[in-house]
Amino acid sequence: MTVPTSTTPRSDQHPGLGVSPGIVIGRVMVLDTEHGRVPRRPITAHAVKGELERFDHAIRASIADLHALYAQAKTEMGEETAAIFRVHAVMLADKSLVGPMRVMIEKELVCAEFAVSHLLGVLADKFRSSRDSSFKTKANDIDDLSARVLHHLLGAQQSRLIEAPPDTIIFARDLTPSQTAGFDRSRVIGFATDLGGRTSHTAIVARALGIPAVVGCQNLTAAATDGLTAILDGDRGVVVLNPTPEQLADYQLQIEQTRNFRLSLTDLCKLPAVTVDGTRIEILGNIEFSEEINQVIDAGGEGVGLYRTEFLYLTSTTEPTEEDHYKAYARCVSLAAGRPLTIRTVDLGADKYTQSRVDVPERNPFLGNRSIRYCLRNLPMFKRQLRALLRASALGPIKIMFPLITSLEEFRQAKYHVRDIMDDLAEEGLDFDRGLKMGMMVEVPSAAIMAEAFAREVDFFSIGTNDLVQYTLAVDRTNERVAGLYSHTHPAVLRLIKDVIRKAKRADIPVSCCGESAGDLEFAMLLIGFGLRTLSVTSSSIPQLKRLIRSVNIDQCERIAKSAIALDSDVQVSALLRERARKIVPEAFDGRTAE
Ligand code: PEP
Ligand code: MG
Repeated sequence: MTVPTSTTPRSDQHPGLGVSPGIVIGRVMVLDTEHGRVPRRPITAHAVKGELERFDHAIRASIADLHALYAQAKTEMGEETAAIFRVHAVMLADKSLVGPMRVMIEKELVCAEFAVSHLLGVLADKFRSSRDSSFKTKANDIDDLSARVLHHLLGAQQSRLIEAPPDTIIFARDLTPSQTAGFDRSRVIGFATDLGGRTSHTAIVARALGIPAVVGCQNLTAAATDGLTAILDGDRGVVVLNPTPEQLADYQLQIEQTRNFRLSLTDLCKLPAVTVDGTRIEILGNIEFSEEINQVIDAGGEGVGLYRTEFLYLTSTTEPTEEDHYKAYARCVSLAAGRPLTIRTVDLGADKYTQSRVDVPERNPFLGNRSIRYCLRNLPMFKRQLRALLRASALGPIKIMFPLITSLEEFRQAKYHVRDIMDDLAEEGLDFDRGLKMGMMVEVPSAAIMAEAFAREVDFFSIGTNDLVQYTLAVDRTNERVAGLYSHTHPAVLRLIKDVIRKAKRADIPVSCCGESAGDLEFAMLLIGFGLRTLSVTSSSIPQLKRLIRSVNIDQCERIAKSAIALDSDVQVSALLRERARKIVPEAFDGRTAE
């Protein structure tokens, strides 16, 4: 390896969590975030003029907002209440407040976002630590001003994103699932974030779109500037900034090897997923957008085990109408062409959608008003979706699945609304499938523990390990600080899964697993050993999973399962799976993505 000279920028490795496989080499674009800390992004001396213009424009736009808000509030609420907006406008026009930010951009060569958030942050902290309570309240005014100016600066970033050149790798402190879904894939080839966990929905979207991604890189955005060359390795979870020529050559070789490995799997797509001893395993796909069904089928999937319909909300600025829902489901039925199609009712809340739209965000949204709870409290919205689903059920086979069910009452209520709508549709003379199957996700411990009772009332189970792990182990699935504790091989999780499968079999109802763990080859062997015969995974995992299934026999999987369930730590379980699975089917683990 060549030693970088003082004029060559130093190569710099940033480890994180590889959440979407693939290696890409491209140029960095750093996106700052409106909330949370804004990284100190350096700019060049040439960029100062443009940066000051952006800054001045954001200040002028913020003042204009405040004048408009003042006029509106004055007519609606009176002068006294409206005065706050006038005061804010005066503060933003004050040179003693704004001047130091301009100086900082100019002298310290930093981006406008950093100058605003840093200097106003220091001022707010000063007010906050004052003994005088009237000064303390000023801190909130400063925070407000900072958010307003940043909003304008960052809003301008959306247009930067639109103008992103091809081969752009996005770096951001954090990204929402909808931001990720909105990336133009002809330009954005990968992304990396400072925050985030393995099964966050942003990571899931990245996998669905086939964009390599690394999350939880801690201080990556602070270390990067626009235009730097970077290698993003979504397989190993690392980002290399300013790669050396040797690193570039090495990664290019790996890209080539991965391409060849993927090609070697294409023939498998048309072959059935049958174990060596002749047991049929059903491989279905998880989708977020109707068009993804094509990818699932092309990869050799037999249908859809999970359609996350909340993405209809995440990719739009307005609430979907009944017709929007209907069109999406009718499209799915047509693309699935008679194959199994399980559509999950909207799973909004937590890291998806609702927090940014309410005045007072929840303090603990993963334990809050999310998922089926949110639907049952927003009945007009829920019923719109159910009507569309039922109408689409007249076009082809559909199953409905309810997310985050924690009690029988919740399932009964959801089912009651479906029946109610069936009555309405019948009265209106509209067609629907009267025998429509209704199932539930088993993704919280209460549902897993009560599986026997649920199995008497539901038509099927789908085990959602992404949430089941989070709620069983009390580990936020999106938090990179506790990512090391988030483990689907934890014995408590294994026991719950095993038990749910047993209860479903005893009640003779279908059971599948649609969490990300089903696409983990070693873990899939364990699930099969527990008796599971349906796995639903992201389309990119299907070929390798099929290859594994076609190389093992049930007896081997059962023996692994028996040994694993006797262990009492996730480390032991992971080690056992790794060692046994690779001994039995080394060929299934060829290729970089399985490393
Ligand atoms: C799960 O929790 O495992 C699951 C499949 O649902 P989601 O990832 O959408 O929460
Ligand atoms: Mg879930």
